[in-house]
Amino acid sequence: MQLRDLQRQYEVLKPAIDEALLGVAASGGYILGETVAHLEHRLARYVGTQHCISCASGTDALSLALMTWNVGKGDAVFVPDFTFFASAEVVALRGATPIFVDVERESFNMDVEDLKRKIEQVEHDARLRPYAVIAVDLFGLPANMPAIKEVTHSHGMYLLEDAAQGFGGRLGGRKACSFGDMAATSFFPAKPLGCYGDGGAVFTDNEEWALLLQSLRLHGKGEDKYHNVRLGLNSRLDALQAAVLEVKMDAFENSELQRVNAVAEQYHEGLHDVVACPQLSEDQYSSWAQYTIRLKDGSQRDRLQQFLKIKGIPSVVYYALPMHLQPVFQNEKYKIDTPPAGCPNAEELSQTVLSLPMHPYLTQEEIRQVIVAVREGIKENDF
Ligand SMILES: *Cc1c(COP(=O)(O)O)cnc(C)c1O
Repeated sequence: MQLRDLQRQYEVLKPAIDEALLGVAASGGYILGETVAHLEHRLARYVGTQHCISCASGTDALSLALMTWNVGKGDAVFVPDFTFFASAEVVALRGATPIFVDVERESFNMDVEDLKRKIEQVEHDARLRPYAVIAVDLFGLPANMPAIKEVTHSHGMYLLEDAAQGFGGRLGGRKACSFGDMAATSFFPAKPLGCYGDGGAVFTDNEEWALLLQSLRLHGKGEDKYHNVRLGLNSRLDALQAAVLEVKMDAFENSELQRVNAVAEQYHEGLHDVVACPQLSEDQYSSWAQYTIRLKDGSQRDRLQQFLKIKGIPSVVYYALPMHLQPVFQNEKYKIDTPPAGCPNAEELSQTVLSLPMHPYLTQEEIRQVIVAVREGIKENDF
């Protein structure tokens, strides 16, 4: 069993994927071009934004967004303390200062009340300019975007939605990648919509930013590639990846998204009386980048993971270290006197979370095995 079985997906989609790959090989166009433009239009239509600008990775998508806003030294960018490293890395790489915001224990996403507190502390401290908020749709579930956006805008800041794991998620009728002033997603193979290498995209309704993004991903091109009006990146999507994504997008829309939600329902039914399972409200819809349970404490979590391993069931701790405890952020450069890091929920979650196998091609037998093993593991270790 695998946490996310991409080979099984390939077996199912093989004829279409092989044809798409060979088609690109024969086409003579390998970077950007028609294939990529077609995908960008499709993805923008799907998430409900005016523009989609693809690029070389989810990390680059975040960087390109920050470059578009000219984020830099002296700027405070608020980032959840419990996320993949790239969400904060891009901020520090731009010379700005990431300010870590605690998350909600139940949703794993940014806590609006703590965001307000951290903004006030930065304003009071007065050394950094509050400039932007990066809210992450962790594990496939959109963060509380309406509330976060209101706080962000009321303080004159921009909202960047890090939807690297969120593609396909929804709040009410609105899709992930459409909540931020800009949104970034990733097509890393294991993400909800993954390609066969690295890839990413930025989404926005803002035409001016869309044009800037197109320039920034291509060495700051002006009228053409050899007329450079600003400094940019070499960050483009390959036609091969776009062709794979077209095929995978069909599967994603037709069956995969429903399928992972059916798996999540079965996990919930089978496990919610023994562990804390993700609990979604009526208007929340997840694309289940991960199915993450919470255990009583670190010791129960570690013993369960060990037990699952013996039973041949893979599980992973996303994430074992909150951002403010990552070695690189121990550097004085990222320490401002106030606010203190103060993210107790993120610290607790790093001890208690465990992600179980989750993908659209899990069999009924595998789902049953996971449920039985978790229940057994809890019983055996609950003393
Ligand atoms: C994966 C991920 C990224 C980075 O995406 P890459 O395509 O791997 O560069 C950024 N943020 C979050 C939350 C992620 O999970």
